Formats: sequence, structure tokens, C-alpha cells
Amino acid sequence: MRGSVKAELTPMFKQYFEVKHQYPDAVLFFRLGDFYEMFFEDAEVVAPLLGLVLTKREAGKGLTAPMCGVPVEKALFYIQKLVDMGFKVAVCEQVEDPATAKGLVKREVVKIYTPGLLVDLELPEKSKTYLASLYLEKKAGLAFLELSCGEFIFTELNKETFLAELLKREPREILCLDELANSEWMGLIKGSLSKVHLSFLDKKAFSLNQVDALLKQPYYERYHEGLKAANAILTYLQKYQPHLLDKIEDPVFYYPEEFLFLDDSTKRNLELIKNLWDGSEKHSLLWVLDRTVTPMGARLLKEWIVYPLRDLTQIRRRQEAISFLIEQKDLREALRDLLKRFSDLERLATKCGFKLINPKEMGLLRESLKYIPEIKRIFSEVLKELPQLLKEVFSALGDFSGLYQRLCETLVDNPPYTLKDGGIIKRGVDSTLDELRDLKEHAVDYLTAIEKKEKEKTGIPNLRIGYNRVFGYYFEVSKGNAKLVPPYFERKQTLTNVERFVTPELKELEQKIITAEEKIKSLEYELFLKLREEVSQYKDVLKKASQALATLDVLISLATVAVENDYVCPEITEEPGLYIEEGRHPVIEKIQGKESFIPNSVELKKDEAVLLIITGPNMGGKSTYLRQTALIVIMSQMGSFVPAKYARLGVFDKVFTRIGAGDELTRGKSTFMVEMSECAYILKNATSKSLVLLDEVGRGTSTYDGMALAWAIAENLYEKKVFTLLATHYFELTELGKIYAGVKNYHVAVKEWQDDVIFMYRVLPGAANKSHGIEVAKLAGIPQEVVDRAKEILYKLERKNLKEPNEIKSTTKRVVQLSIFDRDHPVLQKIKDLPIEKITPIEALNFLWEIKKELIK
Ligand code: ADP
Ligand code: MG
Repeated sequence: MRGSVKAELTPMFKQYFEVKHQYPDAVLFFRLGDFYEMFFEDAEVVAPLLGLVLTKREAGKGLTAPMCGVPVEKALFYIQKLVDMGFKVAVCEQVEDPATAKGLVKREVVKIYTPGLLVDLELPEKSKTYLASLYLEKKAGLAFLELSCGEFIFTELNKETFLAELLKREPREILCLDELANSEWMGLIKGSLSKVHLSFLDKKAFSLNQVDALLKQPYYERYHEGLKAANAILTYLQKYQPHLLDKIEDPVFYYPEEFLFLDDSTKRNLELIKNLWDGSEKHSLLWVLDRTVTPMGARLLKEWIVYPLRDLTQIRRRQEAISFLIEQKDLREALRDLLKRFSDLERLATKCGFKLINPKEMGLLRESLKYIPEIKRIFSEVLKELPQLLKEVFSALGDFSGLYQRLCETLVDNPPYTLKDGGIIKRGVDSTLDELRDLKEHAVDYLTAIEKKEKEKTGIPNLRIGYNRVFGYYFEVSKGNAKLVPPYFERKQTLTNVERFVTPELKELEQKIITAEEKIKSLEYELFLKLREEVSQYKDVLKKASQALATLDVLISLATVAVENDYVCPEITEEPGLYIEEGRHPVIEKIQGKESFIPNSVELKKDEAVLLIITGPNMGGKSTYLRQTALIVIMSQMGSFVPAKYARLGVFDKVFTRIGAGDELTRGKSTFMVEMSECAYILKNATSKSLVLLDEVGRGTSTYDGMALAWAIAENLYEKKVFTLLATHYFELTELGKIYAGVKNYHVAVKEWQDDVIFMYRVLPGAANKSHGIEVAKLAGIPQEVVDRAKEILYKLERKNLKEPNEIKSTTKRVVQLSIFDRDHPVLQKIKDLPIEKITPIEALNFLWEIKKELIK
């Protein structure tokens, strides 16, 4: 608003702008009576998004404000929608009673919702909603706050890997330094997280002013970059949820190197949490593994999937617990039945700590606490046999009997959501409250008692108590008896036949009755706040218990899945590599049914089998084989059992996948660019303890470029001793197997029958001898004449009829697959004497280029 216009605003709009100026980046819900109104740009932007009617309101001399509004009781619904769309919403309330306020009612912002700072909207039960913060200096500092679970963590990474870590937690909102607004990082983040909301803060937010005290502790002093990111979160919190600032725990540092590294594209391509086609959980690894029964368990399982472990001992501890739970069927099922009765104890505990819990939730908390002793009893019967991890679960379950009893005694059986409408506290808790309730409930009895008493005292037989709105309660006496009235009766009203009186006693009772209702409500509110204060003292033990229960839930879930799907416990070894006997794809076997899935074995071994090249026709099962191997690695490092007959695995440090263009949904960038930048990333970061899946790499460009690149990439990975599975339609790459001892060729078997192919889904040693592309095309419904023509072309090509390329040129450029190891070719004739082992990838590229020119000629 320009100054000149502002001067002419109505008082209410002056007030509006004063508030709006404090929160320029939020949609302002301005309370007017029974509505929250939005004005000016807010209204214009929001009305179409929420389907509200845009109206107008006089804002001052010659100025009308566009306006739209929502009824107060529906506000949360609309706020939720806006926040989901990435808006911030500031709720401005009337903080005075309009009935008694002099002049303009005072208004203040009482609550702000931002996409990343949510506690009291409806949150997705099974996932966390992170607010992240990114600080880039020499290192990258990352901090994450999950307000509803009270989780505040931070870390530091190098510039190569921080993005993967940032994206992995799928934050709803990311705080960044305003200078980064136009950097390429922002584009990458937005490209990967479609729903993310970026909030830019100034340098001061990324200073260390909020974390001063922490810096003095040895634990923190080394982590300046990370703390600067955490500092921004605290600054943000101070602005938008100031009442929570002192209730947030200190941030906890974590080491990403403790976990198996999975970048964003691997997480997506392996469909760990979501599928690639509609983004839902269906047919993801989570979909197979999730048999959890509590919200905190469901959230933890997700975390275990994207953060598999690297520490052998920790992995084994999980395995032991799962083994135990598998053996103890009755115990497992009894525990699972008990867990089903728990509410979201983790979020309830957090709300307790924030003192935000409402009576309804307090009731849920009580209900959950009821089953903890039962769980402990079950455990205590087998305490001696319990594996370490379950022992820890057991001892993390504190003694809540005191709290439980207190809640049972204090809180009514079915408490309401609201704090200020009474109906929360049981009888027998507070004598004043009980008196008030008696009074309210027995008002008639008390009045009758006074009436009776006065009747006897005065001897007036027709004395009776009446009520009207002007005078309240009164004694009514007929005119004839009025002279019998004692002096302490005060005359109030004289009617034709009767006279009306009050006494101090009656006035007092009246006052009590009228105010009892209000008093009950406010006393109950006070008592509830006191109870809440008391319960908040338990936040740490409650949280500890909720985490233990989450762990138990996940372990039981993994045990249940292992039993139902016939998984085995993998042997985890120090030695790098893996041997999986008759491994299966956990998701595909679940979709197709176990009987129709063909298991396959795989071995990766240092020096001997480092790079496996899998060839064979499209639809033959190559991608499935690659993915199942990676999934089994991830599952086993989660501590889970795996779909195989037997499995022995070393601990991997990273898993990378590069799924060729066309096999992956594209995202903005040219697919070939994406493909190559992902390959570059893999080449830079993979180590001799990593597992890399390359599926149809090089398909995004012309055949020869693609083939040469795939070759060079594979070779480079091999030289670095990176365990690699490579599926390809470039048969030429199988030559690598002849050159290097650690490269092994496999193919997916097909059977030819008359003119068709039958997929066997068996992965066998050796390279495929034929692509069967044409048969597959036929299966896919390509018309017979096209199939026949293709066969003819292929025949000619296979006869090496290349001296007359014109004959086939027009239709076949794309079908040509010429082996660079076809030593009869004129180009290769030139280098005939060069031993093939000595040809570098660059040389190979040059040769290929010459061949290509020859062909197109
Ligand atoms: P490719 O990568 O060779 O083109 P895929 O791995 O995508 O082939 O497999 C294609 C389809 O074949 C899968 O979707 C699945 O239905 C089926 N399939 C793959 N492997 C197996 C298997 N081992 N057992 C049974 N069916 C399989
Ligand atoms: Mg494939």
C-alpha cells in the first residue's frame, strides 16, 4: 500500500495492513465475526484455488478491496488445502470480546501454518513431513525438523552427495539462503520433488546466533555448516511457531556414512517406497514389507528401507530379533494383536512435550498406556531367551502405571476434543468442581429446600419460588400473606395479586446457579492444563517407549512377511560380494504368484565375477534380475530376510542404478543428458564396495555412440572393481567377457518354437546368440508383413550384405547392429593387427565412427 492511499483507509483496513505487513509471505485469514476474510492479492490468488466467490469490500475513500472468506468452523479444511499447495497461512483472531470492546476489536495473529511446520493439521499417518534446511559452504550442512514427531537432526556432507540425502527425506519445505535462489541446485531440487516449497532466508538466519549455547559443547563445536542449517530452522520456528522454540530438543548429529547410500534415482527406480507409474505405494518394496499395525511402526519401516545399515553387528541384531519372532509364532501374534490397539504414541508423546495435547488425545494416550504392561508381561516370560534388540525394546518400555492411574482417575471415559467446553474431568478430582456440578445438577433440589425452609419459618403456606429473566429467582407471596413476610425479605416487585421478594440467601444461590456452568468450564480447563503440565513431564519416557514399540512393530512386520513369503535369513559377511541362490524379485513374485516366478542365482565375487553382462531379448527378464539383486542387497542390509533359497552377502556401501531412457519416466531434461549425468555421478562415486546396476545404458543416443559409451563406462567401473550388473541389447559388449577375467557373460534363456519365442526367465552363463527382437515384435502385435520384412532385412544384414547398403538403407538404419568385432569389416581390417585388448574406449569410439560413416554412405 502506498502511503497516500493508506492515509484514507478505514480503521479496520489500517489494522489489516498493520498485521499483513508482519506476514507478507503468508495468506492472511482475518477474522471478522463468523468468517475469516482474505483481501486484496490474497483474495485474488486464493479464491479460484479454493473455489470461493470473490467479492468486494469498501476499504477506504475510493478504494475497494477484493475479498473472499471462509466460515470459521470450516477454516481448517481450507487451511489444509492451502498448506498442501505450498502456501503459508497466518490466522488473525479477534483477541477481545466484540461485545465489550471499545471501538475497533483488537486482532492478533495467533497461529501460522507453513508446509513444513505442522503439528495440528491432519498429517499423513504413515509418513513424516520434514522441514529441511540447506546451507552450502565448503561442505553442505543439512538440518531436518519433523515437528509432529519432535525429530530434529542435522548432518554435513560433501557437495557430491548432499542432494541425495536432502531428497531422500522428501521434505515438504526447504529453507535456503536467498543467494541460492537462482542456483542450479534449486532447479535440481524442484525437478525431483514436485511438491516441495522453497523458502528463502537471509544470511542472518544462517548464522550461529540461535545455537550459541550448543557451540560451547564439544559434541557440536565441529559442525559449523550443519549448525548453520539448524540455526535457520530455529530462526524460522521463532517466526512461525514461537511458542515451540523452547520446547524443541537440541538437534542430533547423524552420520550418513553409517547407512547404505542410495541416491534419489535409485530409490525411485527400484520403487522402494512408491511405484513409477502412479506414485502410490502399490507394488513397491514397502508394499511387500509393510505389515505394521501402528503409525509409528509404519513410519519407521519406511526409514529402514531408505536407510539400510552398514554395520555388521547392527544388521545381525535385527536378524536375530526377526529369527526369534519367526520361531515364536504365538508370541509374535499376541504382540501384534496388542500393538494394534496403540494409537500414534510417538506423535502423542510429542504433543505432550509441546503441551498441545487435547483431551481426546489424552484419552488415546491413556488407552495406549493400558497395553504396555501386557507387552512387558509377555516379554518377561521369555526374558532369558530374548535377543539383544528385543531386550532393549523391553527395557525401553517404562513403568507408566502411575501416569495411567492418574489419567484413569482424572479424565472422563470419553473426553472431547475441545478444552474449553467442559466434560473433561471426572468426579472426585476436585471438590469445588464437584460442588459446582452438584449445584448445577441439583439446582431444583436446592431451590425446593429453601422454599420449604422459608415456608416453615414464615408460616406462609403458599410461598413459592419463581423465576423470570429480569429479576431472576424470587419468592412469591399472595397479597393477603404479604404482611407475614419477615424483615430480611426484600421486596422486588408488586403485581395485582402477588408480591415478589428476594433474600440474600436466594440471591447467593441464584448467582451460584447462573455462574456454575461457566465456572465448571473454566475450572475444568484449568484442571486439564494442570494435568497436561503433569503429563508433559513424561515426554521423554513416552517417546522412548514409542520408539521401542515402533521397532517392535517393524521387526514383527518383517518376521510376518518372511514367514508368509518364504524368505531366508541372509548370511552377512565381511567379505565383499554376494552369492544369492535362487533369488526372487520380492514384488513381482507377489504380483504374479510365487509359482509363476522363476528364481535365479547370482554371484559377485572379488576378482572373479565383478562385472556381469546380461544379454537377451526384450522382455526376457533382464531388468527383473538386476533389480531383484539390488532389492535383496537392500533388504539384507535392513536386517530383513530375503526372497531366496540361500544368500550370503558382504556389506555394500552404496547402491546405484542407471535405468536406460525409455525404461524410465522422463523428467524435463533431455533423457540422454539425464542418463549421462547419472552415469557420471556413478563413475565418480562408486567404490569397490558398491553395487551398480546399468540397465540398457546408452539407449538414448545413436547405436554406435551408445554402444561405445556403454563399453567405456562398463570398463571404467570394472577397473575400479565396482560390482556391476549390466543388462544390454548391445551384444558387442559381451566381448568384454573375453577380455577381462572378472567379467562374466550371462543371458536370459528363450526357447524358439516354430516361429515364436518362449521366455524361460532363466539366467544362464554365456552371451545370448540372437536378439529375438523380431519375434518379440510379433508377440507385441506388429503386423505379419512388417515382421516378414524385418526378417528379410535381418537376413541380409546377417549375410553381411553391406556392400550394397542402399538396398536396405531406407528402412533399416535403426535395425542395424553391427559387431565392432566383426574382423572382416573393411574398417576393422585396417586395425586387424592391433590386439583387441589394447584398444582403448576412445579408439573404439573412433573406429565406430568410421564404421558408421561407411554404413551411411
Ligand atoms: P527385460 O528387461 O529383459 O526386457 P523384464 O525384466 O522387464 O525384461 O521382464 C519382463 C517381464 O517378464 C516382467 O515384467 C515379468 O512379468 C516377467 N518376468 C521377468 N523375470 C521373470 C521371472 N524370473 N519369472 C517370471 N516372470 C518374469
Ligand atoms: Mg529391461
